[in-house]
Amino acid sequence: MNAGFLQTPVAYLKGVGPNRAESLQSELGIHVYQDLLNLFPNRYIDKTQYYKVNQLQKSNADVQLIGKIVHLKTVEQKKGTRLIAKFQDDTGEMELVWFRGQKWIRDNLKLNTPYVIFGKCNVFNGVFSMPHPELELLKEHQEGLKVHMQPVYPSTEKLSNKGLTNRVISKLMQQLFLETKGKFSETLSDGIRQELKLISKSEALFNIHFPKSQELLAKAQFRLKFEELFYLQMQLIAKNMLHKQRIKGNNFDQVGALFNEFYANQLPFELTNAQKRVIKEIRADLGSNAQMNRLLQGDVGSGKTIVAVMSMLLAIDNGFQACLMAPTEILANQHYTGISELLDGTGITCELLTGSVKQAARKPIHEQLESGELHILIGTHALLEDKVKFKNLGLAIIDEQHRFGVAQRSKLWHKGSSSPEGTSGAIPPHILVMTATPIPRTLAMSLYGDLDISVIDELPPGRKPIKTVHRYDSNRLKVFQFIRDEIKKGRQIYIVYPLIQESEALDYKDLMDGYESIVRDFPMPEFQISIVHGQMKPADKEYEMQRFVNGETQIMVATTVIEVGVNVPNASVMIIESAERFGLSQLHQLRGRVGRGADQSFCILMTSHKLSSEAKTRLETMVRTNDGFEIAEVDLKLRGPGDIMGTQQSGILNLKIADIVKDNEILKTARYYALQLLKADPSLEKPENLIIRHSYAQLVKYKNIWNYIS
Ligand code: ADP
Ligand code: MG
Repeated sequence: MNAGFLQTPVAYLKGVGPNRAESLQSELGIHVYQDLLNLFPNRYIDKTQYYKVNQLQKSNADVQLIGKIVHLKTVEQKKGTRLIAKFQDDTGEMELVWFRGQKWIRDNLKLNTPYVIFGKCNVFNGVFSMPHPELELLKEHQEGLKVHMQPVYPSTEKLSNKGLTNRVISKLMQQLFLETKGKFSETLSDGIRQELKLISKSEALFNIHFPKSQELLAKAQFRLKFEELFYLQMQLIAKNMLHKQRIKGNNFDQVGALFNEFYANQLPFELTNAQKRVIKEIRADLGSNAQMNRLLQGDVGSGKTIVAVMSMLLAIDNGFQACLMAPTEILANQHYTGISELLDGTGITCELLTGSVKQAARKPIHEQLESGELHILIGTHALLEDKVKFKNLGLAIIDEQHRFGVAQRSKLWHKGSSSPEGTSGAIPPHILVMTATPIPRTLAMSLYGDLDISVIDELPPGRKPIKTVHRYDSNRLKVFQFIRDEIKKGRQIYIVYPLIQESEALDYKDLMDGYESIVRDFPMPEFQISIVHGQMKPADKEYEMQRFVNGETQIMVATTVIEVGVNVPNASVMIIESAERFGLSQLHQLRGRVGRGADQSFCILMTSHKLSSEAKTRLETMVRTNDGFEIAEVDLKLRGPGDIMGTQQSGILNLKIADIVKDNEILKTARYYALQLLKADPSLEKPENLIIRHSYAQLVKYKNIWNYIS
């Protein structure tokens, strides 16, 4: 059946009509034949089993029985009426009940004729009763398709109210197969099908809707999931390749004096192998003539900053400027201080630009930036202002990229050379985005298929794994004693309170109450306490933060403003209050603030006794592991991909049959095949790939792919 026919509006299918078409469209997004064909069942029910009335149990399962209806009556109730049928088999009696569509049942139901009924049973007044059963005359049932597994389609209340029950949808599907003769164009090449032993498209579609056996159903599912993920990957990889061909980048072919000098003399530590590998990957990109778009993933504390610094040196070695954008002032400050220190004596100029930098101080920064005197600019969103113009920005780095949106990435992109001498037109800067929110690889592959990905999967040596425990509020005294002991050893402590936007006033009160009780328990002058929260002026925040960084205060009471990036190696205890209210990735980020020095660090998750099962899973996961990727996997399973930044645009939520989490292995296979194919035949010109080229074109034609930076 050709693809054009499948674009026929579903209203033309026999048995649909304008009303049903309207419901199918609004409720399930089904417009044309193709959409209906791709409405895949959620699950299947084994219909080889028949129950007897005396075998019925109180359970939630669907059951199927054979028997006769011997009597029908209408019962008045508070609202409207109820139609009750007495159903019998040779072992007993039960009731069938209708609240809606009673007239149709009255008019069509045959008394004393064998029926097959199907549905869920309740017990009502001591009698088994099945509301709105599916009914089929035994004779028709026997003549009909011998389906062992009956598909259950995604449905909505509204649909069944409009008579579009599962049974009706099944009927429509049969009609569709009748009209198309069940013949559908193949969409995968012979080569791939043979290698993976995939059944044909027609066979797969038939068996997904009318499975002949468990085995064929499994094969159908595998084939269709593979196909879906394969074409998703094809789109992402193709976009990435196209991008590389089209977008010329500044070529940093020099590994010059600055980089080499720094490596030989200024590096405060030996790089980990993972850091070395990632720097190599970045170097290769920067010297490739194409613009780099790279995502650097590395758990908290894995040492992404030094990779950023060395990448910036490569830019400066080649006569370009670089910038680093961070999501908060605290973090930008910290980067500025740390990086200035690292670069001390190299002659490289570095400035800080944040919202709280005074107008008078900005002017020289703007000027030096435009003249090229300034090599590195570090800052917050303030970098994105129009006034900020570079002479020749060669590399833009975004730290903690999950805190920014795509729009900001795009803005930096256009900050390239205004019109540098010797080049024509604007060449965008290379882009490196860094994140400590470990996105599971499976998701990253789908989500950022358009970015290249580097991973730092190794922590610097000598780190002791953080010990994490869960304590109830009732144990607070013991926890406080523990804090005192740690402070006596010279350590510093974070105490973090949740601050969630909608209930800010309330949270703020929690924080202040907490702060007061801590001040009471840890009195001055023996103890010094800092407090930092979002409602403070930036200058005050900075002052308090600085006192903690300098070791003048031992306890930092804060909201999640400190979640991101702050580095105080002497802080060895992280206490998270109301930990049940935080998401997993946030808990992990917060914990990452400790464990940065040589001492044993601790994370204490404080909660009330009342915990949801999901909260329990989160806490258990935190106690069990320090591995950010493992945590991210759990998070993904708990929340689904929908809540992870960036998934909305990526199309992976529109998958019809595959599941990005459960079908991880198939995803990997699909990506591998897509990559191999596009490497060997980028424009899909080889005759054996014609099918794929054609299917791909169809897909692009009928489906809007999400827009990357435009
Ligand atoms: P993150 O990846 O979370 O941004 P940072 O770059 O802030 O991590 O690094 C965390 C800490 O580890 C810093 O104090 C940094 O100086 C230190 N560090 C980074 N790389 C190494 C290394 N190879 N050996 C020892 N310490 C390192
Ligand atoms: Mg960092």
